[in-house]
Amino acid sequence: MAVTEHWEVSEAKIRELSAQSDALGPGQRHRIEYVHLRNLARAGSQEAALEGIGALLREDLAPALRLRVYTTGISIAANVEDWPLAFGWLSEGLSSLSEAPAESPRLLGAASYLHTLVGETGKARELALQALAVIEAGDDARALCHAFADVALAEDHAGNFGEALAWRNRQIGACTRAGDLIFIANGKYGVGKMLAAQGRHAEALGWARQALSEFEAAGFMAGVWSARLVLADSLIALDQGLDEAEALLADTLGYYRAQESHRAIAETRHLFARLAERRGDPDAALAHLKLAVSATGDAEREAHERRLAYLQVEFDTRLKEQQIALLEAERELAALHAEAAGRRQLLLWAGMSALLLTAILLALLLRHTRRERRRYRWQSEHDSLTGLYNYQQVRRRGEAAFAAARDRGRPFTAIVADIDRFKQVNDRYGHAAGDEALRALGAWIGAVVGERGIAGRSGGDEFTILLEADAAEAEALLQRLRDRIGPITVFGRTFRIDLSTGVCQHDGRAATLEHLIHEADLALYRAKHEGRGRIVRTGAAGGSRGGLVVVGSGIQFGRHASERCMSEIREAEVVFCLVDPVALGMIRAFRPDAVNLGEHYAEGKDRRATYREIDAAIMAEVRAGKRVCAVFYGHPGVFADVPHAVLRKARAEGIPARMEPGISAEACLYADLGIDPGQRGVQSMEATHFLVYERQLDAAGLVLLWQVALSGDLSCTRVHAERAGLQALVDRLLRWYPPDHEVILYEAARLPIEEPRSDRLPLGELPTARYEEYTTLVIPPLGELCRAPASAAGHVILSGP
Ligand code: GH3
Ligand code: MG
Repeated sequence: MAVTEHWEVSEAKIRELSAQSDALGPGQRHRIEYVHLRNLARAGSQEAALEGIGALLREDLAPALRLRVYTTGISIAANVEDWPLAFGWLSEGLSSLSEAPAESPRLLGAASYLHTLVGETGKARELALQALAVIEAGDDARALCHAFADVALAEDHAGNFGEALAWRNRQIGACTRAGDLIFIANGKYGVGKMLAAQGRHAEALGWARQALSEFEAAGFMAGVWSARLVLADSLIALDQGLDEAEALLADTLGYYRAQESHRAIAETRHLFARLAERRGDPDAALAHLKLAVSATGDAEREAHERRLAYLQVEFDTRLKEQQIALLEAERELAALHAEAAGRRQLLLWAGMSALLLTAILLALLLRHTRRERRRYRWQSEHDSLTGLYNYQQVRRRGEAAFAAARDRGRPFTAIVADIDRFKQVNDRYGHAAGDEALRALGAWIGAVVGERGIAGRSGGDEFTILLEADAAEAEALLQRLRDRIGPITVFGRTFRIDLSTGVCQHDGRAATLEHLIHEADLALYRAKHEGRGRIVRTGAAGGSRGGLVVVGSGIQFGRHASERCMSEIREAEVVFCLVDPVALGMIRAFRPDAVNLGEHYAEGKDRRATYREIDAAIMAEVRAGKRVCAVFYGHPGVFADVPHAVLRKARAEGIPARMEPGISAEACLYADLGIDPGQRGVQSMEATHFLVYERQLDAAGLVLLWQVALSGDLSCTRVHAERAGLQALVDRLLRWYPPDHEVILYEAARLPIEEPRSDRLPLGELPTARYEEYTTLVIPPLGELCRAPASAAGHVILSGP
């Protein structure tokens, strides 16, 4: 039995209303059109009605009317079995349910019905119950009646007969209250059909009769034919009134054929077959059965089409849902992208701000660093006390200025100035006063020299000035400086300072600035010697008089040779060396022409002869007017006859000669053994000298005996230790010391990789010890110091300086 609709407005009324359409609003026009289409369907023009409904749905309808149009459209489409259209509209209608909740039960009812038709009984039941829930919330008795019918039908199709029966009873009750005769009959028909399906034909009979008569009374033909089938079924099953059954079925086929309802045709054929069977006419039964099978086939094809249409729409819907979900996902993705882009933008800004900040900080840091660097640079180039250049900077800048002057053929003059008796300033007025004097002199020099030259403090109280000028200009400048030097007042005490100055003008022959300064230095030396407070101008460098300087290489040349010593070696015209092989190698690295005096030594040769030869070699060059530098091992004036001898000779001949100090083995001994000679005083002499002469030892002080290995060698040829000589030394020492007095055999380290030797042993064991030619005997003090009588001490103090 198809879904039913109630037709409320006559077509005449519609026509009447349509005539005034100009005066109507769009909402009213839509409603009139809807009722007109419904009436059209009712009148049998279902195709035209469907077309009109399709057009109406394309209009902008009010939501409630739209749902109602969908419901009607679905009913008509289902009636004409246009399943694609029915399910298509159903799907569209269901998606807009929420727009008009009050109108939703009708559509849900139609939806439930369509789902029963396609076997989706679960869904059908759910939709029907959904509609019922909406209706139960309201008070529309008729709608409740229809809703119960829908649920009952869904349960019936789902095969839940017990449930279906209960819902049919509720339907009959509700429809009776609503006065809906067709649906009362429909309820009864439903009960009858269900009872028949359960084989309860006797009970079904009564319900079917009632339904039939009530449908007939209401003129509802679709119900009438359905009720007839149920009644005929039960009559045949009960084998009661087969003629009545035949009469009931007689016109049924015709009706259903006209309706093209294959399921009902098949059902009718089955009943005919069973009727023929009852009557004992198997041929007729078989013929009907065949036709029934054929109609069932048609019905199944029909059902198949319905299901196909449903599935197609369902598929499309799912597809659409998926597409919508996809679109939504895309939208969310786009939103996320936008958010991410926003964050990226934010991060970018934050990053750029951070970069900007970093750049500002870096710029500030850079400025600070530049300032610091300038400060450090200034500090590294200047003397902090006077603000003048330091020694290295004077040299560095001087080299460039000297080279430039030489290239341009301009005169160049070096001035070396030293404060006279500056130690006394420190001693008398204090170190702070000394500092103030240095500062004041620095300022005066700076003011006088200005941009005209390079002025610096070379160290201590010595200053160097380099000028692109001749010696006369330099002297004029020095005169101005001396004029400026005024009294210095510190802590209320005033004193004066004076300068000694050496001046040397480059005459075009001197090779280096170092040479020029060295000459100025020598001139200063003379200024000091000639009484201080004066300027000594030396002859042009390179053309100066010859002379002799004796320098010491120290025990380790690399560590002990002074700047001065190196400078003398570099600047001399002739260099003599009496040093160890390592030192000789180092000197020859920059003075390949250095003469090795060591070659005068030979095994068994009398050292006095060697000394004479060396002396002669040096003096020959000095007398030839050369500037000679003689380098001796250790301190050139300690345990060294030749250096003193040549200096004396040169001076005696009016040739400038001097000695630069060096580091002696004795100096190393104090450092290595940690002995301060100032504590107990020290006696230091050659071992053989001690043996040969009657010397008194002060055992309370330190005693050093040099070259113990050669003790007692008067031949001056021996270079190895001899036991007899050592025994004689011990015997002599036993006058002051007990034999077990601990003594030390010391050897300074001559190479940086060596350790100094300091072997401690009892005095009595000396003869059996190991010796080198240069081993020194160190005898630590014995016993306590004795204080001098009080009066004597007092005298000393009173007569002090
Ligand atoms: P001379 O006339 O022979 O030059 O005698 P002098 O006393 O000036 O002797 P010398 O030039 O050899 O000594 C320089 C002294 O300068 C040694 C040291 O006491 C002192 N001196 C060196 N540097 C500074 C310093 O920075 N501040 C102070 N106050 N004194 C210094
Ligand atoms: Mg001085």
